[in-house]
Amino acid sequence: MAQPLFRSPPGTRDLMPPDTDRMRAMVSVFADEATKAGFGQVTPPMFEDIGVFVRLGEATDVVTKELYSFEDKGGRTIALRPEQTASLCRVFVEQRPLTPWKAWYYGANFRYEASQKGRYRQFDQVGAEVIGSADPDLDTELIALAARFYERLGLRNVRLMVNSLGDPADRAAYTEALRNYFTDNVADLTEQSQETLARNPLRVMDSKREPDQAIIASAPTLADFLSSEAAAAFDRVQAGLKAMNIPFDIEPRLVRGLDYYNRTTFEFAAESLDAAQNAVGGGGRYDGLVANLGGPDEPGIGFALGVDRTLLACDAEGVMGAPATNPQVWIVAATAGVEGIAIVDQLRRLGLRVDKAESSKSMKAQMKRANKSGADVAVIIGEDELARGEASIKPLRGQGDQHSVPIEQLETAVQEYLE
Ligand code: AMP
Repeated sequence: MAQPLFRSPPGTRDLMPPDTDRMRAMVSVFADEATKAGFGQVTPPMFEDIGVFVRLGEATDVVTKELYSFEDKGGRTIALRPEQTASLCRVFVEQRPLTPWKAWYYGANFRYEASQKGRYRQFDQVGAEVIGSADPDLDTELIALAARFYERLGLRNVRLMVNSLGDPADRAAYTEALRNYFTDNVADLTEQSQETLARNPLRVMDSKREPDQAIIASAPTLADFLSSEAAAAFDRVQAGLKAMNIPFDIEPRLVRGLDYYNRTTFEFAAESLDAAQNAVGGGGRYDGLVANLGGPDEPGIGFALGVDRTLLACDAEGVMGAPATNPQVWIVAATAGVEGIAIVDQLRRLGLRVDKAESSKSMKAQMKRANKSGADVAVIIGEDELARGEASIKPLRGQGDQHSVPIEQLETAVQEYLE
């Protein structure tokens, strides 16, 4: 075969059945869980003024290195969204919905990353945000929404890790302690982490690079810097999770990438995947972000779950098979008229999955195609059947012989057969 002239760009994939079917089913499970929990779906644009994302923090990789940005024909500097929390905060500031505002979303994000399995330049996330309340029970509810979603997909090996980043003052004191600690050990850090240290010592904790691990393991932990209010909120979240029987580990070194997080922070790791790529989702509080985007000083909390990566976790655990998409009925119509497509339409309107081969093909060729179609039953009409006002039903799988039925009884006969 000739080489294709074009291929999909690096870091992108052509999603095809059955994965497209499985992803759609996954999103619909999430939509159902979110709707039950009182969240409304919000769909912001895929691109925004670059400022919306720059406000996420200058020390964040998604902003400094990975943003797809360009000048549009009107001279605006636009960026493709690398995530949707900032967009939802922008929506909140612009639309001013009632608080607490509970919103969920689904869609593609774009990051210019070094691509590999489970890490793409275009990937889908589902997520949820609550803006306008600092109530720690909302943190618990939100974590539960994600946990119940994974549970409903059938995933059993997803580990929930939680931590508290404290309030800004706690975090500032902790950041200083980390700066001192990492500076003392700077020679043992990787070059990338040395650079990160200069920008934001907290983010060094995020490094998954092997040589950094030993240094990170002995770093000071935030727990020792929490204010009494932040500590009480964290206790409340833990009590809530216990009351819901949602297992979790406290992970004192969980700091997550984005700069605007405070208090509760959490991450879900699929233990069936390689450690480097096993984060299937995460989130946390971002009490300063809305104000930072020019809005009122409203607190917020949210999470984003990677759809592509969650699907990999489902593969690894052998759950979440594709919903049935094979045709149930295959129409073989070798008549001169349009009887065949009329029957296709009639049976589809009953809710069945129905297809047929091209009318120009011979009866024999159409039967061959029917046998390969994966359908449960074929409905055959030729000129003879048509003249008698009948159609033939031929089971393609399992037991039973071909038999004729009057055309008026076709719907019932097909439905009975499929039961
Ligand atoms: P983040 O928005 O970075 O907090 O990521 C939330 C989740 O999105 C992660 O846990 C991943 O499952 C997923 N994710 C983030 N970046 C990528 C990517 N480049 N490719 C695929 N999934 C990603």
